[in-house]
Amino acid sequence: MTYQSFNPATGTLLKKFEELTDTQLEAKLAKAAECFLTWKATSYDARAAIIAKAGVLLHERAEELAETMTLEMGKRIDEARGEVEFSARIMAYYATNAETFLADTPLYPEQGEGHMESSPIGVIFGVEPWNFPYYQLARVAGPHLMAGNTLVVKHAGCVPQCAIAFEKILTDAGAPEGLYTNLMISHDQSDAVVADPRIKGVALTGSVAAGRSIAAAAGKALKPSSMELGGADAFIVLKDADMEHALKWAVWGRMYNTGQTCCAAKRFIIAEEVADQFTTDFQAALGTLEAGDPLDSATTLGPLSSEQALLDLLEQVDVAVKHGAKVLMGGKRLNRPGSYMQPTILTDVTPDNPAFRTEFFGPVAMIFRVKDEAAAVALANDSDFGLGGSVFTGDEAAGRRVASAVETGMMFINNISWTDAELPFGGIKDSGYGRELGDMGIQQFVNKKLVRTIKADAPA
Ligand code: NAP
Repeated sequence: MTYQSFNPATGTLLKKFEELTDTQLEAKLAKAAECFLTWKATSYDARAAIIAKAGVLLHERAEELAETMTLEMGKRIDEARGEVEFSARIMAYYATNAETFLADTPLYPEQGEGHMESSPIGVIFGVEPWNFPYYQLARVAGPHLMAGNTLVVKHAGCVPQCAIAFEKILTDAGAPEGLYTNLMISHDQSDAVVADPRIKGVALTGSVAAGRSIAAAAGKALKPSSMELGGADAFIVLKDADMEHALKWAVWGRMYNTGQTCCAAKRFIIAEEVADQFTTDFQAALGTLEAGDPLDSATTLGPLSSEQALLDLLEQVDVAVKHGAKVLMGGKRLNRPGSYMQPTILTDVTPDNPAFRTEFFGPVAMIFRVKDEAAAVALANDSDFGLGGSVFTGDEAAGRRVASAVETGMMFINNISWTDAELPFGGIKDSGYGRELGDMGIQQFVNKKLVRTIKADAPA
């Protein structure tokens, strides 16, 4: 059974859910398509009343929503509360700004006049991951519903209670039936949904493997898609960086959400002049983290999202070591109940090691030493991924130079890769294509229509 809620801190099964039958799925798709016919003609103000209300409800229910998340996927409770509040802000942001973002834009042809209109295209299918169970849903619901589309969403199998809670937020906010629909469906049913003629666009956030599969299905059906996939972000420290500042962000950037973040700092690329100091201090800081119940605010190291996630990560570390990597610290599961992993640092990862091109989705950092800025950029770019990245330096010009030279969708100077409602989020290469959030996020699934007025006689 795919949709099962396990507490990864204890291994206890909390709840399980049946998948939809094909008949039930058909009824939900029909409702979403029917709802689109009225929703697309609804004013921005009327849409905003519902989406803004959903934001308010997220805020009001933050405590209970955060607890559900912590129980289902192990996020530490303070981080979980922060995620719910951020999701509320995303809904409010699009409720406030959608009309401006989608306003007609004038064009300036040599003759006559013209403009671009933005209009909704239909039912959008979202496929979303467990690592940010509400934020990921808000990232598609806020923009695409405010644009006038309707949404059907397949959430990850391990967070069914979060999926249901988010759908209820929309319903309680006054969403008409079919506006936002949670689908507990199999991968095969998901392929059928992508191919269904009522679906007009597909937004996936997940692994590269899922991206290849869903993007191929969308391509076959000629549907526009956006792919927000994995990352192996570089965390570059130049020799003139403020080391104390960089160290704090290094710990946060690798360990937030127990390392299970697409844009987490994963490859630490350190100038050789400061590499020994950085490595010693980083190891010491990771060594102070205390595993415990993620519902307890005092806990500084939570579990991974599931037992399988832990086993996969341990296997990846083993493969890295077999190919010559050295384990500077950690590398094993913690000797306690639940799916906990020791904070881990790998060094000596050479380009022929599979780990060099791997995304470690958990508390595993790789440290590399480089001789200068150019070598740091070259190493950062020697990756199949291209999501985010960061550079720490005391020289603003060097920061900008590195930010421009690294081949990713996002670069951050003296800070880690992060996200805000206003900032377009997304990557290049195997990290996918398209952008979510910001103005760009709402443009993803709208028809950009040219309308031209010109008074000219047809040629004789
Ligand atoms: P995943 O296994 O790819 O799952 C993501 C979603 O895709 C889940 O809903 C999953 O459903 C579904 N899925 C997977 N294969 C599918 C298929 N063949 N057909 C239909 N649906 C399919 O990824 P994950 O392990 O949950 O999430 C971690 C990955 O997401 C990491 O690589 C991370 O970097 C990436 N991520 C990227 C971003 C970004 O914005 N770029 C943000 C967050 C996470 P089931 O659970 O039912 O398999």
